[in-house]
Amino acid sequence: MASKYEKKIRNARTPLFITRYLTGPADSLPLARLKDFQAAALKEVINSAYRNTDFYHQKMTEANIQPQAIKSLADLAKLPFTTKDELRGNPWVLLACDKKDIGLIHVSTGTTGGEQIYIMHSWRDLYLHDLAPEYPGVFDVDPGDLCFNALPYEMSSAGLAFHKVFLDGCLATVIPAGKGGAYSTPEKSIKLLRDLKPNVIMTTPSYSMTLYEKALEEDFDLRSLPIKKIWLTGEGCSPAFRNRVEKIWGAAANFYYGSLEAGFLGIECNEHNGYHIPLTHTIVEIIDPKTGNVLEPGQIGEIVATCLLRIDTPLIRYRTQDLGYIDTEPCKCGVKFPRLFMRGRVVDEVIVNGVNFSPFYLEEFLMRLPEIGNWYQFIIKEGDNDKLKIRTELVEGVQPTSELADKLASKMEYALGIPCEMEFVPKIPRPQAKTIRVLKE
Ligand SMILES: [Zn+2]
Repeated sequence: MASKYEKKIRNARTPLFITRYLTGPADSLPLARLKDFQAAALKEVINSAYRNTDFYHQKMTEANIQPQAIKSLADLAKLPFTTKDELRGNPWVLLACDKKDIGLIHVSTGTTGGEQIYIMHSWRDLYLHDLAPEYPGVFDVDPGDLCFNALPYEMSSAGLAFHKVFLDGCLATVIPAGKGGAYSTPEKSIKLLRDLKPNVIMTTPSYSMTLYEKALEEDFDLRSLPIKKIWLTGEGCSPAFRNRVEKIWGAAANFYYGSLEAGFLGIECNEHNGYHIPLTHTIVEIIDPKTGNVLEPGQIGEIVATCLLRIDTPLIRYRTQDLGYIDTEPCKCGVKFPRLFMRGRVVDEVIVNGVNFSPFYLEEFLMRLPEIGNWYQFIIKEGDNDKLKIRTELVEGVQPTSELADKLASKMEYALGIPCEMEFVPKIPRPQAKTIRVLKE
């Protein structure tokens, strides 16, 4: 007798827009075919949203738009935006299928405050649609690769998203190590690394440092592992911090950009020169955060995402609150997807003397100073600050003198053009969840 799962697979019908246009690896399809795919997928998504959710039906009615008015990609800008606040505390808002067809429910981590956001996926969206496009040009993970997943598995999407893609999409071996959950301690993770010798690591920049510290204590050299690639996600970091991660682990570290709400938004190739936008998953637009107008390539604005492979819980023109710009010039790696360059988050900016800084820009100069350890915080107050206060650890063996504080502060002042103050502490608290780089006191 066929199991429920076998029956589901047998009865599953792949949508026409996937079988018609997805004729090979998604990241090497010609741009014209990708555009056709996007237009066809967009129509499916909009139809589903309009017919099956009150939320989008109402929004589109208010904007006086019928689904048939969206004939091409150029018409996307006619549709209204979706904001975080519209999703908060409203679990079933995007539901466009029967409740019983929902397979997975994720919930926001809560690090940005406010009510929870619930994001749901039907089984067919999660497996049939989401795994249909393959990206071998950027995800060089294959059967036989042993992937150590040190991302959080509970509640939100980071750990499970990589788990599914590497296990079900790439057919590799996955070790669900987790990141400090109930059974997941750094000690145990080091034991797993020692015993199993994985060759692919998925984690956050800060947790890669936590593992490094534990490895030092346990006298285990991470560089003895046969690692071919580290995937970093969950938090951003500066190039200088990434260099430190790569040196510690002895391997290249590529970033993945995604969010609970909008899923897969960008992935770095080995060039480390922007995130390739997965055109068969998402349409990314850059808008002026004030006017909502769509900006041209090269112009910095808010990143807006429309999910193309979520028919049962559609998300249209979602405002991520992240800032960036798009570069359409071809990448040296040969992948056809345009690239997204991140410029931080609207909410995380640090203001000193009336100038806005991304924390990663500030971090870049801090991490270039060899005396500075891997853990630090920028201490600021709400609004404009008259100086940047940096609370930091020093690398082992460096003495915390006031002369050194003056010297490093003046190096930072020279690099950033703003007054800086250094405070050395023996230990910055290690994060349980996301690391806190900007502390408002
Ligand atoms: Zn590339």
